[in-house]
Amino acid sequence: MDFQKHLAEAIDAVQAWQAEAGPFEQHPSLRLDASVVTEALGEYTERLRGNYPFHHPRYAGQMLKPPHPAAVVGYLAAQLINPNNHALDGGPPTSAMEKEVVQQLRAMLGFPEETLGHLTSGGTVANLEALWVARESHPSQGVAYSAAAHYTHGRMSDVLGLAHEAIACDASGRMDLGALAAALRSGRVGTVVLTSGTTGIGAVDPIADAIPLCREHGARVHIDGAYGGFFALLAGEQNDLDLQHSQPPVLGFPAEHFRAIAEADSVAIDPHKHGLQPYGCGAILFRDPAVGRFYRHDSPYTYFTSDDLHLGEISLECSRAGAAAGALWLTLRLLPLEAGLGSVLAACLRAARAWHALLEESDTLAPLYAPELDIIAFAPRAATASAVDAAARTTFDALMDDASDPIFLSLYRVEASTLPFPCEADVPHVRVLRSVLMKPEHESFVPHLHARVEGAARAALSANTSA
Ligand SMILES: *Cc1c(COP(=O)(O)O)cnc(C)c1O
Repeated sequence: MDFQKHLAEAIDAVQAWQAEAGPFEQHPSLRLDASVVTEALGEYTERLRGNYPFHHPRYAGQMLKPPHPAAVVGYLAAQLINPNNHALDGGPPTSAMEKEVVQQLRAMLGFPEETLGHLTSGGTVANLEALWVARESHPSQGVAYSAAAHYTHGRMSDVLGLAHEAIACDASGRMDLGALAAALRSGRVGTVVLTSGTTGIGAVDPIADAIPLCREHGARVHIDGAYGGFFALLAGEQNDLDLQHSQPPVLGFPAEHFRAIAEADSVAIDPHKHGLQPYGCGAILFRDPAVGRFYRHDSPYTYFTSDDLHLGEISLECSRAGAAAGALWLTLRLLPLEAGLGSVLAACLRAARAWHALLEESDTLAPLYAPELDIIAFAPRAATASAVDAAARTTFDALMDDASDPIFLSLYRVEASTLPFPCEADVPHVRVLRSVLMKPEHESFVPHLHARVEGAARAALSANTSA
């Protein structure tokens, strides 16, 4: 899309609406001189050059990418008005849009129509709300999550004064069902958090098998889909995207576990991770609308023009950007979930599988696991764990510092015993290389990424050997 053109259209339209309220003079205290603005803006944009090129497929490090330009236009248009979705009167149109986009997320995840949900400022608050409802509904019991779950679950359980424990993972980073069963038998666990895509390696807990186990013991189930929730789009039985017949085929996608999310009690999902949105957009959904009673508050500031539910009455956060709802609404209007966003995510899955296949053939690098989502991790092949660690670090730095063709990866720490080749564990932990392939452009860029990383790793290994 022509960003400048549509941005100008959006600004013109909002300003035309604002002009209908009649002219008024801006207060002198707010006026700025054009040359001063230009100079300050120059300094500002110069400082922004200190970022890594998150927009480019050569950046394949952390979970970072710019929003879709449509989301920026949608955000800016509403931001000029600055509605607050805390209350219906704070922004009637963006509050309505929030309800519409939450309905779309609900349908995508297979939750029932009466689901209660709202947007949040991110996954942290979405998960906090789920854990808080868990505490209110199972007050005498604690929370269990996998050892690979996001650290927010332990930290927020502490904030809430909830007992919490980590359940061991299998070799692929998924919650171990035997360990979960043992914890449930203890009676300590009132709520189980299952992750549909861990932040580290995109591992998907065995949701379809864990839910019946949790139900046997009367435990609540919360799904942390902050990163991976949107991949539910690719899990339909009659999927137009037809992953199994796509060229090249998408192997190892745990569709049954994404379908099983529909059976959970709550789900957190971040449109600002895989929903093409700028930061400040998470979401929480609750299957049972009766949990709304926990949110009751009595505020003298409440607005009274409508009997409809105010979003502020079902949210722990007070002020929230209506612009975030507007941006997501416009994005989904242009790139509908199944047909639009689904194709983006499918390309990311294919990119991870394509790179995994190249790594399996490599005599220099070895993949740590077969990817379930779009995150891969791999290690330079060396005879000792300390040599693997040193080569990973050297490769990482050399690629990033290359002035003509830099490549940005991330480092990831694992136990030396998990390395996928014979290797002396002379140190307990090693850093390996990790790559989040969350841009669809990564698919065609994978051969180049692989060639560059393999070359740098080969150089690092021989430099370290001869040193
Ligand atoms: C990113 C992430 C979170 C935290 O969400 P924020 O949006 O960063 O607040 C929680 N859980 C998982 C699995 C995540 O990937």
